[in-house]
Amino acid sequence: KAKANGKHQVQLFTEALNAEANYKLFVENNLRRALTQNELEVFYQPKLCLKSGQLLGMEALLRWQHPEKGMISPDQFIGVAEETGLIIPIGKWVVRQACRMSKQIAAIGMGTLQVAINLSPKQFSDPDLVGSIAAILHEEQLDPRLLELELTESLLLEATEDTRHQLGRLKSLGLTLAMDDFGTGYSSLSYLKKFPIDVIKIDRSFIKDIPDNQDDMEITSAVIAMAHNLKLKVVAEGIETGAQLAFLRRQHCDVGQGYLFDKPISGRELIDSLRRYPCRPQADQRT
Ligand code: C2E
Ligand code: MG
Ligand code: MG
Ligand code: MG
Repeated sequence: KAKANGKHQVQLFTEALNAEANYKLFVENNLRRALTQNELEVFYQPKLCLKSGQLLGMEALLRWQHPEKGMISPDQFIGVAEETGLIIPIGKWVVRQACRMSKQIAAIGMGTLQVAINLSPKQFSDPDLVGSIAAILHEEQLDPRLLELELTESLLLEATEDTRHQLGRLKSLGLTLAMDDFGTGYSSLSYLKKFPIDVIKIDRSFIKDIPDNQDDMEITSAVIAMAHNLKLKVVAEGIETGAQLAFLRRQHCDVGQGYLFDKPISGRELIDSLRRYPCRPQADQRT
């Protein structure tokens, strides 16, 4: 019986591996086509000033509308895109879309909004990363101060001299650098001082159990206070309730993002929803 069970386990394991391999193959084959066939779309999630409620900008979040499978979320394909290197052309495409979105909003007189994009560590293996971002900003005529890059802690932990150099060049272009999902990796606030980081985004996992979890509240307020001492701006991600918002405002958290305000929405929906936010921010009130 035990033996049969063991055999069964092995079989399940093999099936799981096959399923995973098939899934990867599926994503790989389809993702190549997705970029050229317009199946990818950038959604945007508003970021608000927690003090005034004003809209400051938005985060660009990739979506894949597969003709048969429907909407595929980035967590299901970014990994494969990284492994295959497809993240490099896809990433450049996201930068361009994001720049166009910010430009378009300004063009219709709806304000000067900063747009953030997510960069995976793999993109830093592209020697042309900085050059291509600079070229896109130039071609799209976007003020570089309106582009923010969200980076992962693992990028800083594994940073080579080369990565450090790339970050310095991005900073010199005038871009804002943000540390995404802060608290989930192994870096510390003091570690951030070694890199030209301007903003930290406190991970949703610390926000979600506020106000029930006392530890999360302590950690969040300590992180905000320390970040401010280091002259870093703080964004809280994943705000879903009024109680979370009230707590973060009391702690002087600068910026917020979450379902309480808006889910990630299409560019069209973003433009339609701009009217809902109080007074248009001025050019000097970016995040
Ligand atoms: P992230 O950069 O941490 O993005 C925040 C994620 O939290 C998004 O998931 C967003 O939809 C979700 N979120 C925002 N507010 C709330 C909330 O109040 N409650 C809950 N439950 N979730 C909330 P999404 O869009 O599925 O993206 C997942 C991750 O995929 C992103 O995490 C980012 O790491 C990655 N990603 C997305 N787009 C890109 C891209 O263009 N390039 C790269 N390299 N990575 C991307
Ligand atoms: Mg992000
Ligand atoms: Mg995040
Ligand atoms: Mg997160």
